[in-house]
Amino acid sequence: MSIAIVGAGVAGAAAAIRLAERGVQVDLYEAVAEPQPIGAGLLLQPTGQRVLAAMGLLDGALALGMRVDRLFGDTPTGRAVLDMSYRRFHPEAYGLGIQRGALMGLLWGRLRELGIHWHCGVAVEGFDQDGQGVTLRLAGREPARHAALILANGSFSRLREGMKLAQHARPFPWGAIWTVLPAPPDFPQIELRQRFRSASQMIGLMPIGKAHADDGERGINLYWSLPVAELDGWQQRIGLDALKQQMAGLFPDVAPLLAGLRDAAQLREARYADVWMSRWHDGRVLAIGDCAHGMSPQLGQGANMALIDAHELSAEVGDDWPRVFERYSRRRRAHLRFYGQASRGLTPTFQSHAVVAPWLRDRCFGWGGRLPYIHEQSIATLAGVKTGWLWGRLEI
Ligand SMILES: Cc1cc2nc3c(=O)[nH]c(=O)nc-3n(C[C@H](O)[C@H](O)[C@H](O)COP(=O)(O)OP(=O)(O)OC[C@H]3O[C@@H](n4cnc5c(N)ncnc54)[C@H](O)[C@@H]3O)c2cc1C
Repeated sequence: MSIAIVGAGVAGAAAAIRLAERGVQVDLYEAVAEPQPIGAGLLLQPTGQRVLAAMGLLDGALALGMRVDRLFGDTPTGRAVLDMSYRRFHPEAYGLGIQRGALMGLLWGRLRELGIHWHCGVAVEGFDQDGQGVTLRLAGREPARHAALILANGSFSRLREGMKLAQHARPFPWGAIWTVLPAPPDFPQIELRQRFRSASQMIGLMPIGKAHADDGERGINLYWSLPVAELDGWQQRIGLDALKQQMAGLFPDVAPLLAGLRDAAQLREARYADVWMSRWHDGRVLAIGDCAHGMSPQLGQGANMALIDAHELSAEVGDDWPRVFERYSRRRRAHLRFYGQASRGLTPTFQSHAVVAPWLRDRCFGWGGRLPYIHEQSIATLAGVKTGWLWGRLEI
């Protein structure tokens, strides 16, 4: 019997590839009939890049994405809040800004090369497991029987509730709107650039390269933070012109880029949830990716964590799937716990109506970042390698 994976996003596609490369027979179920290569710009950390290299996809990603050497964020008064250089982590390290669609194109291409059974337009509605396998309930189809099941269907998965273990998925009270805009010819070369006013306004710009190889334009990902309560119907309540004024008011340098933003429909909404699980396996069922550890995008880790999950799972492959999943959970524990805690702790200092936390952030982060030890810890956090608050590094 084959292994079933639910969801062909970064986590599910990468897991299918890594398992197939180890000789495991995989069936991948995706609810969307014709998955499109879309999604927000992603920052691929050195960790995620290592996994792509192991899959033979890093050169393709480098050809499409844009190298990011530094993250810089400040306040309208010019106070530096974040100033992190990958070079301080490792002389050859950098982040890679890439369109999610470009990354998905690479992963899906590899899925096809490997001949993985990919069932698009098939939603998995539930599952039952016993000592020999797992039976999937499929929308409009006969049930399917598999040796084990991997849930990779995102933060808002309902299937996860079928795993008998303590868990919660709490939507964050803040989300974002984002788009990819063509870089005007005279627009300066930027790194990952953020500007904050307290925690209630935040704009982010990241160079992310092109969607596919024959695309002439290089894009810049524009991110604007908004409370979830204001996301629905923002077009009527705020309106595009007023929104652009707010953006340019916070960060005047963005004005030339905003000329490419002509229609509210260009902006997409993003909502995210904090997913916590006491462990990630229950017998023959395993959760990976956002389904297992959804977090806010503030640390730029979600897609990287999904890639690492896939890679680390493939390292534990064997015949006894409950044991494989148990070993995987143990292997991932420290890394997943650290980033879950960091996301929960840091997100309100960047996205909330709080006053004290961002006031402290503005005064402490910039100052702390000048201390070599703090800078080193911050950049290791950004690079995606930390497995504990004081020590511990992920080795991939
Ligand atoms: C604005 C924003 C910015 C971000 N920036 C970064 C960044 O800079 N760096 C980074 O690493 N990460 C970033 N992330 C996070 C990253 O996008 C996610 O962590 C990552 O895409 C999660 O992948 P996934 O495969 O786990 O889940 P998803 O991408 O959610 O994929 C789940 C898949 O499962 C399918 N599915 C759902 N239910 C079913 C079902 N019942 N049956 C079959 N199929 C189903 C869905 O159609 C979907 O294709 C960002 C996220 C956002 C919103």
